[in-house]
Amino acid sequence: MKRYVDVILPLPLPNSFTYAVPEEWAGEVKPGCRVVVSFGRKKYYTAIVGNVHGNAPAAGYEVKEIVSLLDASPILLPMQFRFWQWIADYYLCTQGDVYKAALPSGLKLESETIVEYNPDFEADTPLPEREQRLLDLLATDASQSVTRLEKESGIKNILSAINALLAREAIFVKEELKRTYKPKTETRVRLAGTPGERALHVLFDTLPEKQLALLMKYVECSGYLAGGTPKEVSKAELLRRADATPAVFNGLVKKRIFEVYQQEIGRLRPDTEPADTQPLHPLNTFQQRAYEEIVESFGQKNVCLLHGVTSSGKTEIYIHLIQETLRQGKQVLYLLPEIALTTQIPERLRRVFGSRLGIYHSKFPDAERVEIWNRQLGEHSYDIILGVRSSVFLPFHDLGLVIVDEEHENTYKQQDPAPRYHARNAAIVLAAMYGAKTLLGTATPSIESWQNAVEGKYGLVQLKERYQEIQLPEVIPVDIKELHRKKRMVGQFSPLLIQYIKEALEQKEQVILFQNRRGFAPMVECRTCGWVPRCQNCDVSLTYHKALGQLTCHYCGYTYQLPRKCPACEGTELVNRGFGTEKIEDDIKVLFPEASVARMDLDTTRTRSAYERIIADFEQGKTDILIGTQMVSKGLDFDHVSVVGILNADTLLNYPDFRSYERAFQLMAQVSGRAGRKNKRGRVVLQTKSIDHPIIHQVIANDYEGMVASQLSERQLFHYPPYYRLIYVYLKHRDEALLDQMATAMGEKLRTVFGDRVLGPDKPPVARVQTLFIKKIMVKIEQNAPLAHARELLLRIRQEMLEDERYKSLLVYYDVDPM
Ligand code: ADP
Ligand code: ZN
Ligand code: ZN
Repeated sequence: MKRYVDVILPLPLPNSFTYAVPEEWAGEVKPGCRVVVSFGRKKYYTAIVGNVHGNAPAAGYEVKEIVSLLDASPILLPMQFRFWQWIADYYLCTQGDVYKAALPSGLKLESETIVEYNPDFEADTPLPEREQRLLDLLATDASQSVTRLEKESGIKNILSAINALLAREAIFVKEELKRTYKPKTETRVRLAGTPGERALHVLFDTLPEKQLALLMKYVECSGYLAGGTPKEVSKAELLRRADATPAVFNGLVKKRIFEVYQQEIGRLRPDTEPADTQPLHPLNTFQQRAYEEIVESFGQKNVCLLHGVTSSGKTEIYIHLIQETLRQGKQVLYLLPEIALTTQIPERLRRVFGSRLGIYHSKFPDAERVEIWNRQLGEHSYDIILGVRSSVFLPFHDLGLVIVDEEHENTYKQQDPAPRYHARNAAIVLAAMYGAKTLLGTATPSIESWQNAVEGKYGLVQLKERYQEIQLPEVIPVDIKELHRKKRMVGQFSPLLIQYIKEALEQKEQVILFQNRRGFAPMVECRTCGWVPRCQNCDVSLTYHKALGQLTCHYCGYTYQLPRKCPACEGTELVNRGFGTEKIEDDIKVLFPEASVARMDLDTTRTRSAYERIIADFEQGKTDILIGTQMVSKGLDFDHVSVVGILNADTLLNYPDFRSYERAFQLMAQVSGRAGRKNKRGRVVLQTKSIDHPIIHQVIANDYEGMVASQLSERQLFHYPPYYRLIYVYLKHRDEALLDQMATAMGEKLRTVFGDRVLGPDKPPVARVQTLFIKKIMVKIEQNAPLAHARELLLRIRQEMLEDERYKSLLVYYDVDPM
């Protein structure tokens, strides 16, 4: 019977597509295997088989055959299909979107353009020089990639020349699939034909000395005569240990005594031998009680919120829970925000769990991620995966526990592109599918999680003591509005902060200075006319990078040279405005020339190693003062920090978003948590112009519950989460007038169904990105309303918009539970 497959393509298409399976693969293709298919105009994609069946599509639908089958066994497990389906449904996107986010690139084949020479081509007039040069190159090798031609010809903007040659039919373009992931292999050796002991002894008597020595070494390394399956032996290793030459080795291969084969090997970091691992720290009384409460709560509920102050030992509790889950033979997924995946937590886990721990980080080379994926499919999968957001997509055989550390972090939400999923919420759903439990941990719970815990949906366990009774730091507010007026500020620093820094340095203690990233990008401004450089593609001013002498757009990444004079008034005095971390670093170096200063922000941590170096230097006391953005607040433990300075709390408070107060509290509490040493209370200098702001008081009193209570009443009043579910509708278009018209039309359509739950369209704070204008509509749906129905309506309305001739060039998407 003819077989067919329904496949998921890596494209934002609402349906799966059916292909026919050629006879040769009919017995082998299974759901979860990858196949290569052609789709659209001669484009090839790697697709995932959703199901295999014998139902020929309806007449009139032309069924194509799959081009090739890539896997002998599935790379996607049945549970993952269910999970993908949930994400696509809940976040109003397609399975193709999920597919693109879920798999590392190495598992998704790339189409690479290959150009081919047309041997029948004859020019009737001489060709332009560039084109002739390309043809000459193709004459030597008839089929080459555009990338290679570009390199060899040295021609810039090569595509136009290729275009011209195509138009003359001098060349063809051929789409070819290239496997980006090549497993690393090693040459290994074994004995041909598995000779018995007697046969071996015959060999020992007849072989020349050097060959004999090598053979003996092999027998020793493999344990061949020890009984059981011989160990695998690498050729390189054997030659090294026997101190033999390849010629001797080849002699044995020629005599058909040795046989070589290729074995795929991991590129992952060498595994820690289990012998190196250390026992767990015993929990103290408070921690032990929390541990028991968590276990008890798991008896009744799927999710538990662990609210523990900074440095209370939450991580130690996680380690004990992991240990217990492993004892039950189950797997653990431990999620961390991107930036918190520093050296500290991986090292702490590795010390205890050794090679049972796998780490999945977006800054790792793709090949490593492919290896982890493949390993999780096999028998020797990692028992614990420590990873970022996207590790929820990894295959698990038997998940028993999910830990979401720093659960309040908004970086768990993917912004762009789709799927715009929240990894914490997705992880809870994933865990439930496996019958596993989820632990959410943080010192500053998100209001949503807190509310779920208070209402009894989640368990709630609190840990209010810091480990070893180190006191929480003292938070000292400083009114910088007043100080500015009295001209007593030195740049960004109040006299009190300067004094504390000085004292800390004298005592050989460390200092962390925190500057919020938002709203404080350094800019350049014309002193004469106030002109500020802006991005050509986006509705934002450019950020000035002094070290590079460059202006950068943080939205589209475009860079510009700093102009010599103002394009508006020709003035030559372009001055640095704003108080970015770079400026603070400069000022600190002037104030404390003896101190060693480091800066941690997006620019100084482009690579993982740069990031790790900054942290290691600080940990080892090589740095006295660390200046940083949000990054310095993320779960780092430093033993010698006695002073933390929050340079300007107002930028946190003034951001136009319903979550800005909650976030301001969380950030300030987390940053403050970095201060404090054994036997000495840490000090936090909180500089603000809004000294009477309730959030400032709550931070000083470390009054988390007070903050939640006041925020909840506002949220209820203004119909925000956790009482209402938010869905943002984003509309984008190049033509601003057309966009306005479309947004109004969409708003009306939504209102006919959702009534006054619809707000807008409005202009978002950044109303143009990458040459596209943006409009936003907000939909607020009651928390207890049936969501499936709302989703259906939303999808239908979107479909109607796109089917309208006038709006078909519109870009429109939903962001469910926006952050
Ligand atoms: P949290 O995750 O709540 O911020 P950590 O688990 O990082 O707290 O603990 C803070 C510090 O105290 C760490 O350096 C940790 O090693 C240490 N610590 C906490 N609990 C224990 C324990 N029971 N035994 C030994 N060290 C501990
Ligand atoms: Zn000017
Ligand atoms: Zn831009």
